[in-house]
Amino acid sequence: MTLSGFPLTHRGSWQLLANPGSKSDDIAAMGILVVDDLPGNRVLLQHILEATGFQNVLLAESADQAFGVLGMNGAKTEPGVVDLVLMDVMMPGMDGIEACRRIKASPDLCDTPIMMVTALSEVESLEDAFAAGAVDYITKPINQVELHARVRSVLALKQAMDERRHRERELERREKELLEVTRLLEETNERLRHLSTLDGLTGISNRRRVMEYMEQEWRRSARDRTWLSVLMIDVDFFKNYNDSCGHQAGDDCLWMVANCLKRNLNRPADMVGRYGGEEFIAVLPETPLDGAVNVADMARESIVSLNIPHPDSAVDPRVTITIGVASCMPGGDSTISDLITGADRALYEGKAAGRNRVAAGQATAAPGKPSEEGEAMVPDAQAAPDHD
Ligand SMILES: [Mg+2]
Repeated sequence: MTLSGFPLTHRGSWQLLANPGSKSDDIAAMGILVVDDLPGNRVLLQHILEATGFQNVLLAESADQAFGVLGMNGAKTEPGVVDLVLMDVMMPGMDGIEACRRIKASPDLCDTPIMMVTALSEVESLEDAFAAGAVDYITKPINQVELHARVRSVLALKQAMDERRHRERELERREKELLEVTRLLEETNERLRHLSTLDGLTGISNRRRVMEYMEQEWRRSARDRTWLSVLMIDVDFFKNYNDSCGHQAGDDCLWMVANCLKRNLNRPADMVGRYGGEEFIAVLPETPLDGAVNVADMARESIVSLNIPHPDSAVDPRVTITIGVASCMPGGDSTISDLITGADRALYEGKAAGRNRVAAGQATAAPGKPSEEGEAMVPDAQAAPDHD
């Protein structure tokens, strides 16, 4: 292999680089660029370095040639070819100190260590060399043991820094990956959370979501002493509809009814969901029984206005619903289950009374501290007449 016309030799003894198989092997394989204007000096340095085990010694006779080997001046060199520069101080043209400054100013090379090689008489110029970024120096005439020891220690440090930089880059990469995975996971969780609150057929809230909401509003109503109303909603003669129109039409009908209810029960705190089959449930916070009955009746009328033909209904040629309403001011021994049972019972009575109607059931408050607006509702604890 040649680089910029300079032959690389792979000869080399292991006199001083002991421990083959250890990191010393890696250090022996690291690239050293010798820059010196005198051929005798270059050959001597190369000879000593190779004799003490370094396998990749490159030579340059000027700063310019060195820049070429290092990939400066636009030339492209493989990264990591040169791990250490041995730089002669006194050279015709650009001297070693200026060359050192230029190499250190290059973003790709600022981490490449440079060791100055200088005659004893030039030692005073070393201050400039260190200011230019040199890491160490060695004086001529060259002492073989000293050269080997200095070169080896600088290369060991370079190797440690390379490894550390590599680890840091790797950590950074993994951290980025982890952040990306976390972001995707959160997105997926959010989507799942959303999906797990929706009914698959109708796209409105599912029973679980409505029950969660009801528990939350139950606690809030108990704290604030406000009325909480529940509507139980049933599509009239839905089994007949399915039997005469088919299950696909049945599903479409449920979708239309569900979304019509959602459009009509649209005050900010209201929530409607599918309770199961052709039954829906609505939670109306801060709403006493009479208000809930009004809301329910508007919802019932809006379903009639959908004008979905029902070929087998005993009450109307269109799809209709019956709604049971119950209200409660949570507290004392009352439970959510009592409230739902109350609305269910009202629904049953509404069906018994002929369907396509709203039936008002119980309005119960915890004993002792009914609110002003609720007080009038409390005495009528039994089923009220429907509002059709
Ligand atoms: Mg010289």
